[in-house]
Amino acid sequence: MTRDTIRDHFVHCIGNGASISAWHDAWSDYGPLSIIISNRDILHAGFTREAKLCDIVSQNGWRWPSTWLGKYPGLSNIVPPTLSNASYCIRWRDYSGNLCHFLVGIVWNAIRTRADVIDWYLIVWFPQCIPRHSFLVWLLFGENLKTQDKLKKWEVGPNVVLLCPLCRSEPDTHMHLFFRCTFASRIWKCVKNNVQFSIVGDDWTDFVAAISSFASR
Ligand SMILES: [Zn+2]
Repeated sequence: MTRDTIRDHFVHCIGNGASISAWHDAWSDYGPLSIIISNRDILHAGFTREAKLCDIVSQNGWRWPSTWLGKYPGLSNIVPPTLSNASYCIRWRDYSGNLCHFLVGIVWNAIRTRADVIDWYLIVWFPQCIPRHSFLVWLLFGENLKTQDKLKKWEVGPNVVLLCPLCRSEPDTHMHLFFRCTFASRIWKCVKNNVQFSIVGDDWTDFVAAISSFASR
């Protein structure tokens, strides 16, 4: 499966065509010719299975029989490549379609799974961010912190008392930990006044909406 994914990203720069297989290498956008043309026809036309690209192309075009065009109409879309004196090399096609060197970062960016862009990423990730803080906020956005309401579902043990360590009145949740807890809410109100957020509601959604407007600045 990974092979199928990366195959489209390898681009053969054919050079003089003496080092690239005519039938088995994907030197054109249509993939290896062996997918299109039968082995039997290749041999009947006088070529070998080991033929190189320079063996099937001349200055006047293709060396293969014109009858192939009737049998394999797809061949008419393949333009004969211009051979040069350069040597053969393989390049990597990045996510934007540009040819570049094979670097791990570029490869990962090209083949990684992509989801829709979320509107809060600039709140979490920005050039001056502290990675440890950003990671925790990222967990928070997905409500994936190990709060006690989650631990309870995991059956952490009958003798473990689950109470918010700040107010010790009830098990903490994401909402409790940041807004509902009596201790945390006092801090939150103090912070709100200091950063002139006094009109922002005591709710995660309200807070995100308020900060999103200038997160990109
Ligand atoms: Zn609490």
